[in-house]
Amino acid sequence: MQFETALAFAQKLDRTDPLKSYRKLFHIPKINGQEAIYLCGNSLGLQPKSAEKHIKTELYDWKNLGVEGHLHAKNPWLYYHHFFSESISNLVGAKKSEVVVMNQLSVNLNLMLISFYRPKGKKIKVLMQANEFPSDYYAVEQQIKLHGLNPKKCLVEVMPRKGEITLRTEDVIDKIKELKDELALVMFSAINYYTGQLYEIEKISKACCEHRIVFGLDLAHAIGNVPLQLHKWNVDFATWCSYKYLNSGPGGVSGVFVHEYHAKNFDLPRLAGWWGNDEKTRFKMPKHFVPQPGAAGWQLSNAPVLSMATHKASLEIFDKAGMRAIRQKSEILTGYLRWLIEQNPTSDFRIITPLNVHERGAQLSIQTLNNGKKIFDKLTKAGVIADWREPDVIRVAPAPLYNTYTDVWRFAQLLCT
Ligand SMILES: *Cc1c(COP(=O)(O)O)cnc(C)c1O
Repeated sequence: MQFETALAFAQKLDRTDPLKSYRKLFHIPKINGQEAIYLCGNSLGLQPKSAEKHIKTELYDWKNLGVEGHLHAKNPWLYYHHFFSESISNLVGAKKSEVVVMNQLSVNLNLMLISFYRPKGKKIKVLMQANEFPSDYYAVEQQIKLHGLNPKKCLVEVMPRKGEITLRTEDVIDKIKELKDELALVMFSAINYYTGQLYEIEKISKACCEHRIVFGLDLAHAIGNVPLQLHKWNVDFATWCSYKYLNSGPGGVSGVFVHEYHAKNFDLPRLAGWWGNDEKTRFKMPKHFVPQPGAAGWQLSNAPVLSMATHKASLEIFDKAGMRAIRQKSEILTGYLRWLIEQNPTSDFRIITPLNVHERGAQLSIQTLNNGKKIFDKLTKAGVIADWREPDVIRVAPAPLYNTYTDVWRFAQLLCT
């Protein structure tokens, strides 16, 4: 698309936007009585207006039915996690039996590592990307220690080349080949939280398959942002959170993907609780754990219905809009933002997110070369909600469900003047 600098161009894109009706489904925060330019959907997505109704439904049923709500609520609580199978399997590209909604991200990360990091003989190392999110480092580090191994030796990072900030797929694959006899696991965030780089998951997965290395993904910044095909790509396991692009509320419920290939491998060690047990015998209270096949067999506790209610509200919007339309708008919206910033000839900024649309989602990470924090504070004062990362990066993520081309235009205007 040929972009233009005039505000009228942004307004025209808004008028012809196939997703334009979705913005009014969300509460937009206000600053000084004006709708904010909210570009923080990669950190906490906005509240769907329907969230309140969904929570009220559960409160009402709890009030009037008490324990009977497990079976007789409008959405029977006993089966709550089942209500997400279809929507989530569409979002991550999986079979319904390969996904389950439960717990929170860092908890699930640990649960998955217990089952899928199985160091043995010389294969004891875990490969991660440089500058990974701290929670992911901590989880891997502790799991290595749980096996009585040394994280300094076993946790290996792929580093960007000298003078570069993002990773090259070929370097990741070369590292996998180099360490093929020592790697037990490759554990990657599909999108790096800092740079916004989207990795070439299919290629990395293929390299792992070739060398029989387990491949796990953290989809915190990818789910609801970019289309995924976890089943087809032969990813072994994945986990995510729902409060970023999925708009399901602060601390919202997480989920996991376990490839069908492992569905009936009951020899995999795992932590257990009654919710992972065979549903037919769950209430017979058997003494020995009989896991359900598939991802559901990794559940521990009964569903946190109140937080799942907002997840349900949000996923109904995703079902209706569809990832294809969301991604289509996202590519143009973020591409337009990048273009606008780059039109500024006296630019004090460098965008560190890859230029190639196949290597990014909605986020742009803007490195400031001078007075970054000052610029950021000026933006905040002017009604922008974005994210500052030390030492010098402003992260912005136009979310296609509620951000407009005019938002992006106004932001670029404020940034560059
Ligand atoms: C947001 C995020 C987390 C946060 O973990 P919680 O358990 O939800 O607090 C962890 N890892 C990555 C990569 C993230 O982006």
